[in-house]
Amino acid sequence: MTFDWSSSEAVGLAKEGCTHCLGMGLRRGGRTEKSPCSCVLRKIFRSCYAKFRYCASKEKHIGRVSLEPMKGSDGNFCWGMKDEEYMADFCLVSKRALEDVEYQIFRFHFLLGADWKLCCRRLNIDRGSFFHQLYRIEQKLGRVYRELRPHALFPLDEYFGGTVRKELPESCRNLVRMPLPTRGQPLRAPLRKVA
Ligand SMILES: [Zn+2]
Repeated sequence: MTFDWSSSEAVGLAKEGCTHCLGMGLRRGGRTEKSPCSCVLRKIFRSCYAKFRYCASKEKHIGRVSLEPMKGSDGNFCWGMKDEEYMADFCLVSKRALEDVEYQIFRFHFLLGADWKLCCRRLNIDRGSFFHQLYRIEQKLGRVYRELRPHALFPLDEYFGGTVRKELPESCRNLVRMPLPTRGQPLRAPLRKVA
């Protein structure tokens, strides 16, 4: 199943003045209708990586245990160590998505913090191919983090339980909420606004 990238999400993540998408975030591909621009994918990667570094930099061994709503169900709660879970997901998902050579670069550079010089020496590649690979890796992972089902790593606020996305059918999305009855007042159904 292909992922449907919304133009509003893409435009919000696009790099201003990007020469490929002109800041729109989506590009018209050959066969596919719309595909996210590399600037969008790399932005997603960098946000997730920044969060990973932030989690990793917090005091070790003191995981924050939080009570969080279980995704997709109402009224059920579970205990979770969200930061640890996120770091584990970040590593596992990336390892699964990358080729061996790509994963080596990912591990040295992003997980172990080796700079390009060290990576080039260790992996026996030149500067040009290192950065070329790096961009590819960022784009590849950005897409994976966003398109992952059932729980994407990105947007981070959704991953960390800020909002629970419910996939409602189109017909149910614009329902008007019924007001709660107030004591002593007749119940009035919401009326459609007449233009
Ligand atoms: Zn772009």
